[in-house]
Amino acid sequence: MTTPTVVGIDLGTTNSLAAFVLNGVPEVVRDASGNALVPSCLSFHPDGTVLVGRAARERALADPTHTIFSVKRLMGRTLADLQPDLPHIPHQLVERDAEAGRKVLRVTIDGREFTPEELSAMILKEVRKRAGNPTKAVITVPAYFDDAQRQATRDAGRIAGLDVLRIINEPTAAALAYGLHTKGTGVVAVYDLGGGTFDCSILQLTDSVFKVLSTNGDTHLGGDDFDRAIMSMAAKEMGIDLTTTKDAWLLQHLRDAAEKTKIALSSSETAEFAIPDFRRTFTRAELDSLLAPFIDRSLEKCRKALRDAELTPADVNEVVLVGGSTRIPFVRRRVAEFFGRTPHTDLNPDEVVALGAAVQADILSSGRRDRLLLDVIPLSLGVETLGGAMDRIIERNTTVPCTGTTRYSTHKDNQTAILVNIYQGEREVVAANKLLGQFKLSGIPPMPAGFPVVLITFRVDANGMLRVSAKEERSGVEAAVEVKAAHGLSQSEVERLVLESVEHAHEDFAARRVIEFRRKGESALDHMTKALAAHGDKLTHEQRSAIDVASAELRVAMSAGDLPTLEQANAAFEKVILPLAELQMNVVTSALLRGKTEGEVLADGV
Ligand code: AMP
Repeated sequence: MTTPTVVGIDLGTTNSLAAFVLNGVPEVVRDASGNALVPSCLSFHPDGTVLVGRAARERALADPTHTIFSVKRLMGRTLADLQPDLPHIPHQLVERDAEAGRKVLRVTIDGREFTPEELSAMILKEVRKRAGNPTKAVITVPAYFDDAQRQATRDAGRIAGLDVLRIINEPTAAALAYGLHTKGTGVVAVYDLGGGTFDCSILQLTDSVFKVLSTNGDTHLGGDDFDRAIMSMAAKEMGIDLTTTKDAWLLQHLRDAAEKTKIALSSSETAEFAIPDFRRTFTRAELDSLLAPFIDRSLEKCRKALRDAELTPADVNEVVLVGGSTRIPFVRRRVAEFFGRTPHTDLNPDEVVALGAAVQADILSSGRRDRLLLDVIPLSLGVETLGGAMDRIIERNTTVPCTGTTRYSTHKDNQTAILVNIYQGEREVVAANKLLGQFKLSGIPPMPAGFPVVLITFRVDANGMLRVSAKEERSGVEAAVEVKAAHGLSQSEVERLVLESVEHAHEDFAARRVIEFRRKGESALDHMTKALAAHGDKLTHEQRSAIDVASAELRVAMSAGDLPTLEQANAAFEKVILPLAELQMNVVTSALLRGKTEGEVLADGV
């Protein structure tokens, strides 16, 4: 076998595999018996040895408590993220404190602890070994994977000894595998139904460049549900209550028999469900009706993805099927009906993502950067401004790579440092968004408030990794941080957050206005104190007492936080402060006329 130096790897929830391009043609890596798929499964023995792949999956039946699967679901997540899924996760999870307040999730097995990155690395190592130990790879992730999940995948590659050239989105890889980039322009829908997850992505192809327009899906919809539906039906007939049985051996046998039945029904009209002591024939029509509600759910997600992209099924030019479950004839039929066109099914749906990753790896390693792969960021990125408002610097759905810059200043005199809090989310107030990281820009020379010019730049690279830097323009001091998210977001969370931002748009807007008026009030009061010290003696008694009354009212309104009152108090204060502002203006103007610079005038505390 030719040994490739660079491969594409599909690191899947159920199975993983590698592919490479040989003489311009992508092909998957197979073992001696022709198997391409490495089950994403690990089995730990008390003597310390670890089985990976098929051997681990075979052992799962005899030793389910020492078997780990679906590690992908844990990548880049915290216990809090996984809370809703915990009942479905059979592994024992713990969380340990790491540096910079981060938490690290670990899986405990046989008294030993592993991070999801380490476990994924074991799977990647096996895949890599099979390919003859290449050193470079492109690894695929779902389009909705956030920063933390992409970073965890990249780290897993690194632990497995791979130089990860790029992390690319699975649907983009699938479209590349079918050579759709050579078609010039059009809309591609990728329907990916695997073992545990469903994703629908809408890609825009313009001049051979892909861009993910939208993505939708369900992290708990797939072949496992079909197996469970078959299992439940059989168990009911056997008089077994699946919700209470603790017999791991029986459950595993039922699950195994259900999957075999389902797979057999993809090529024949009837199939036998058999476990020791029970036997029953299933028909394809029976399976179709068990599957119908799940497929309806998946098509509903497709409808949502299209709606997000402001398209209808009729706008779609090509449909690509990905994932083992798209071999089911009923699935193919329903998808074809929905989009009104025959999907691409020529390539093996289990291999198509790895094949596309290989195409991308080939492009990158051969230096042909002719096919830029564009993707979008799933949630807006921004920083916290004074008072807790979210200043969005890069909007959701912006194509990566991208940059965004915003200008800041200090709000206190002689302030030498500013703390930059980086958030992700759609809400107007940061408290409702997710803190991704923070860093301090220090060493700003003492200057009056508002005088330093701090440029904050967000840069998201082609892999979706975020780097934030801050620079004070006058002094040149700078600081930067590579954002490693404290924890990730699931697709359903992303959906929920986007939905919430719409639901809360009104109240968020009000909250933001309160923050802005408070900030305005604070700086006006600050200003007033300084101006009073310098010129208070030149005010009339009436002017002085009007200022005292209005400033007291403004302070009360600021602490109460009621928007109309705050607005009113600010307006009233602005009015009574006018004579003082005029006095100050006169002094500034005459100082400038005498040849002082703006900085000197400000430094004089005028
Ligand atoms: P994936 O996550 O893409 O590897 O897909 C794995 C899922 O595809 C599992 O639920 C398998 O049972 C299912 N699968 C694989 N082959 C077939 C088949 N011929 N018919 C139906 N389902 C299949």
